Amino acid sequence: MDFVNDVIARKRDGGALSAEHIHAFVRGATDGSVPSYQASALLMAIVWRGLDDDETVELARAIVESGKTLDLSALCRPVLDKHSSGGVGDKVTLVLAPLVAACGAIFGKMSGRGLGHTGGTLDKLESIPGFRVRLPQGEFLRQLERIGVGVVGQSDRVAPADKVLYALRDVTGTVLNDGLIAASIMAKKVAGGSSALVLDLKVGRGAFMADLPHARNLGRLCRLIGAAYGRPTTCIYTAMDAPLGCAIGNRLEVEEAWRVLCGEGPDDVRETVLTLAAALLPLADLGLDEAQARRRAEAALAEGRAAEHFERWCYVQGGRWKPGEYPRLAAHEVGAPHAGFVSAIDALAVGRAAQISGAGRRTVDDAIDPAAGVILQCRVGDAVGEGDLLARVFARDSRRRAQARDALARAYTVGQSRPDSRPVVLAREG
Ligand code: URA
Repeated sequence: MDFVNDVIARKRDGGALSAEHIHAFVRGATDGSVPSYQASALLMAIVWRGLDDDETVELARAIVESGKTLDLSALCRPVLDKHSSGGVGDKVTLVLAPLVAACGAIFGKMSGRGLGHTGGTLDKLESIPGFRVRLPQGEFLRQLERIGVGVVGQSDRVAPADKVLYALRDVTGTVLNDGLIAASIMAKKVAGGSSALVLDLKVGRGAFMADLPHARNLGRLCRLIGAAYGRPTTCIYTAMDAPLGCAIGNRLEVEEAWRVLCGEGPDDVRETVLTLAAALLPLADLGLDEAQARRRAEAALAEGRAAEHFERWCYVQGGRWKPGEYPRLAAHEVGAPHAGFVSAIDALAVGRAAQISGAGRRTVDDAIDPAAGVILQCRVGDAVGEGDLLARVFARDSRRRAQARDALARAYTVGQSRPDSRPVVLAREG
């Protein structure tokens, strides 16, 4: 196609693309009339030359218009949503969704699966026997109305262009561009029909954005797209140098989320959830300011109402949640090489160890083992003696266990002095 060839050459030479160029490209990539080699060439030109703000908003618009937009207006109430840019041990949605419902608001979300070293909420939910992540739209709406919470898989009819473009980006080294990431995230959120959104943008070794200035630019672009669609978007920036919490792997993470719902569990998970709840609840129709929202969320955790909502949510989506009744797989252990303090736990390396154990996929077609994964016994700042248990890896066969243990051992750094403690919530905008 000469037209597409011209568009590729224009971006290659640093020119800006018009709305017409962008829409024609996205339409053609989605219906197959633009072949994948041309689409990939344009994506690579974009990674090298970048997208300006107008191009980014237009790309989001073209992706939204490639499919259906869900209409949740029949609920006559705001539907709150949250999106994470992807991390290791990120079980925040599992706690936040029922917590928001327990506070009296509606939380409805389309979620994705994990790929590579990052986990996905759908895989975590499916580790609960019977949990259904594909619901007809009518059933999803009725569920939101009845119990205030629902999380389902991305519908093929919503933002189909993103599916095509993301699959190409994933195999052509073209994931990492702020405009492409912002358009991909926000198009799905806009088309998913929620009224207000909080983004949990992860920063650090285990995230797409290594540092805060970079993450802030992504947040700025996402807010710009949100504003173009009249969707208030708040960005919370959270640390992802070390994994979030102690559990990495699908059912292990659900178990940890359950402990947080019961008022226990790791402080960093709890703090992230409460910060997001305090930002999200004022966007509902409850008349709460942020301080009131945080207090209401703390009370829902302390009084067991959030845990009750989690049980109800599982039941309604078909899941049989029986805490404490899931057998653990055999484990290999990682010990401290010498005495000292844990000075770093590389989230990327832990994510890879969990993936090797069977908790993650290498390709989209790989099967997941719901029980596989990693438990961190020691965390950054802990004092250890030589040979003390640092972490365990659970896997179904001994070859995977041994490989994953070696990867996990490389994730830990034990130094001579206690590192300064870092907050998990780094910044906020909106
Ligand atoms: N998450 C998305 O949904 N899209 C991206 O491009 C990156 C992270």
